[in-house]
Amino acid sequence: MTAIIIDGKAIAEGLRKQIAEEVSGLKNKPGLAVVLVGEDPASQVYVRNKAKMTAEVGMQSFEHILPVDTSERALIRLVEQLNNNPAVQGILVQLPLPKHISENAVIEAIAPEKDVDGFHVVNSGKLATGQEGLVPCTPLGCIILLKQTLGDLSGKHAVVIGRSNIVGKPMAALLLKENCTVTVVHSKTPNPEKISAQADIVVAAIGKPRFVKKEWVKPGACVIDVGINRDENNKLCGDVDFASVSEIAGAITPVPGGVGPMTIACLLKNTLTAYKQQMSK
Ligand code: NAP
Repeated sequence: MTAIIIDGKAIAEGLRKQIAEEVSGLKNKPGLAVVLVGEDPASQVYVRNKAKMTAEVGMQSFEHILPVDTSERALIRLVEQLNNNPAVQGILVQLPLPKHISENAVIEAIAPEKDVDGFHVVNSGKLATGQEGLVPCTPLGCIILLKQTLGDLSGKHAVVIGRSNIVGKPMAALLLKENCTVTVVHSKTPNPEKISAQADIVVAAIGKPRFVKKEWVKPGACVIDVGINRDENNKLCGDVDFASVSEIAGAITPVPGGVGPMTIACLLKNTLTAYKQQMSK
């Protein structure tokens, strides 16, 4: 079997087009503020891309680039100003932050209704208890890819590899919401490959290049690769060994061009959702 390649780039483009159409009909444009502390090159690229795509869908982009020695107090003050700025409906603080700043303290300072990353405890609590809130962008993007590929996910056995707060845990909660039977495996799970090999859906969010091999995947399963890694030759690759797994999977996301583009598109989707919620009050 040769897997269908899930074209995340095209699906993300379609989603951004839909968002742009909706935004063009709005009188006031939604505003997204992105805050970056320091000069990490990868974060700078992410922030530039986010600003570019925000403008492309017709939203207002507010960029705040702060020096690496910015204090926690100064960063929280900026977040509070953005909370009170009526032109801003979405706030994203680019992670990771420098070590002297508590990420939790900064995330908790963001008004939950403007928390377009969906990391605030109010939003993660809502997701855990099945209430409507803002959902982390990467898992949201994975669900869209899965539904476009498989249709109804109800009753499917999904195995999520990884349990981080930004990917694994919200991913599991979203799959549960879709009525999947969900298993989460992590670094302390004995024989994770045996569990993964039973799944109809495998979502890999580990952070280890090409870690998930053919033996981890049931023939015909749908494989979503969240990983973004550099291999020993500095080549971009996922957490899944694409070459071997694509021989037996039913469908698989490539890296790059799979989950990555969906993350930014879902950030814009969340900004529009946040805008609509704030305007309806
Ligand atoms: P993370 O916080 O480092 O979490 C990794 C998870 O993998 C942990 O829960 C860890 O288990 C688990 N793990 C590690 N080794 C394992 C093993 N041998 N078997 C099973 N599980 C194992 O990483 P993350 O933030 O979730 O990110 C994961 C990957 O996704 C990274 O490559 C990251 O760059 C990428 N990512 C991509 C996007 C995107 O837009 N495409 C967005 C976010 C992240 P323990 O909890 O037991 O340590």
